[in-house]
Amino acid sequence: ATPTAVMVATGKGASLGIKTVVFDKTGTLTVGKPAVVSSVLFSEVPMEDFCIMTIAAEGNSEHPIAKAVVDHAKMLLQKHGSHNDQFTEVTDFKVHPGAGVSGKIGERAILVGNKRLMHLFDVPLGTEVDRYVSENECLARTCALVAIEGRAAGAFAVTDPVKPEAAVVISYLHSMGISSVMVTGDNWATATAIASQVGIQKVFAETDPLGKADKIKELQLQGTSVAMVGDGINDSPALVAADVGMAIGAGTDVAIEAADVVLMKSNLEDVVTAIDLSRKTMSRIR
Ligand code: ADP
Ligand code: MG
Repeated sequence: ATPTAVMVATGKGASLGIKTVVFDKTGTLTVGKPAVVSSVLFSEVPMEDFCIMTIAAEGNSEHPIAKAVVDHAKMLLQKHGSHNDQFTEVTDFKVHPGAGVSGKIGERAILVGNKRLMHLFDVPLGTEVDRYVSENECLARTCALVAIEGRAAGAFAVTDPVKPEAAVVISYLHSMGISSVMVTGDNWATATAIASQVGIQKVFAETDPLGKADKIKELQLQGTSVAMVGDGINDSPALVAADVGMAIGAGTDVAIEAADVVLMKSNLEDVVTAIDLSRKTMSRIR
């Protein structure tokens, strides 16, 4: 690795003999460019309506899943020979962090997000919905459910492949005596499936930003020094709480500001580079 691979912002604890590395999932272990691989309609809402309303609601969201859903719904509309060039206004738009979005289109209420969002709004999910969600989650996909007027209307299954270097880095860390942990806002089934792809045994799923930081503190209380690797706004409390916070270079500015080390090439191999560097620096100081 080149000297510019990692940028160390402060001298803070870079050293403290890291024993555990905690990885965020989306955008850290995974590429962070999700794509829709399947979609389904659960109700008699016409497909065109379903797509136009979904595009309008998710078009207001910054979440990478929302972008994937919008692209796919546009493609579905085109396949049906219709064009979504009319402007569809969303009122009462609201972001529910770690869950999804809600809003109104004309008189009709729409929700797009995970099961937690559906429970939050008391949307009943039948066996058909449950089966679609669990089948896809076992395949490491995340589902974006759409409810219109309080009823499940359809869903999209999204896949976000793991980074090619992730598994090797985790096994190399293991050989250095460092254990790896995953912490994510995504659901347990998807998180567990991704974890097994990269060789991580310990998973904390369905955590909100402060919950991620709490997991770091719990690990520290067990007496180990902890590094946290993350890319999102939702990772910044955990990046601050860790002995060493490492931000993915391509991540959000908020994460980069919260971190001690920036992985300039967004390559997970540089987690090892940063730990090696701090070990060498420490032995020289000693
Ligand atoms: P992570 O910790 O993995 O980066 P987030 O906290 O950003 O994940 O989001 C957690 C979950 O919330 C997502 O996996 C998804 O199920 C749901 N979610 C959040 N925003 C949206 C959205 N705009 N559309 C669909 N689902 C969403
Ligand atoms: Mg992330």
